[in-house]
Amino acid sequence: MILLDKSFYTIKKEKQKGRGIFAKKEIPNGTIVADYLGRLIKIAEEEDYEKHFGHYIMFYNDKASIVPQDIKAVGAHLINHSCMPNCGVLLLQKHIVFVSLRKIFPGEELTIDYEVEQSPNENFQYPCFCKSLFCRGTMNVSQEKEEKWYRFARKRQKADFNELEVGFGQQMKPLKKYPKFMKDSFGYPVFASLIKEPITIYDSQLLSIKILREKIKNTGQCLYFPKINYCLYGIADNALISSPKRINLIHKQGE
Ligand SMILES: [Zn+2]
Repeated sequence: MILLDKSFYTIKKEKQKGRGIFAKKEIPNGTIVADYLGRLIKIAEEEDYEKHFGHYIMFYNDKASIVPQDIKAVGAHLINHSCMPNCGVLLLQKHIVFVSLRKIFPGEELTIDYEVEQSPNENFQYPCFCKSLFCRGTMNVSQEKEEKWYRFARKRQKADFNELEVGFGQQMKPLKKYPKFMKDSFGYPVFASLIKEPITIYDSQLLSIKILREKIKNTGQCLYFPKINYCLYGIADNALISSPKRINLIHKQGE
């Protein structure tokens, strides 16, 4: 279920990726954009569902996964994968919700990182068509990365993590009330928008990672430090992501 007001998004179809959800208005950092509602299935049954639902099978907890009730309908399953996503997956009560990880601008597609677990004895990988600057070419991630996410989820969700909202085979119901905003305490990577010009910061040294992260999240933009010729795109696992290409572009535009 998309939790944004209809005036905030539109559905567009793209080659290779199919339908996707695109922002029509600015969406602030930390907005709960969708709740992944569907039927709960046993993890052991995932293979039976794979053919029909493919990568639409969503994580729920150690025992269960979610399959959308109707893949043709509008719902959270339309939010596509990106290797530079602007939304993340959080747990809210016994629900899986998608939350914006930074300000999202009109025209941008809402995306999450699907992080499909790659088991070591399986060769198949879902190809990625996100075309982002840091595309890894696949929606899969290592088992190790996936397990790290589970550990965070378990810790944050405590008892709720092991309980099911409804029985297996049954359809989840929307929550009675949703908060408007949530903080991503999982420490997701944050990537600035590439459709916006960077913000110029005239400090002669970089700010702390915590401040830089907050700045990108709240403004949605890259941070350009002309005094040290540095442009910050994002922060992943406490590492700063910059690129000289962007600086060349800025210089070319005569800024
Ligand atoms: Zn990609």
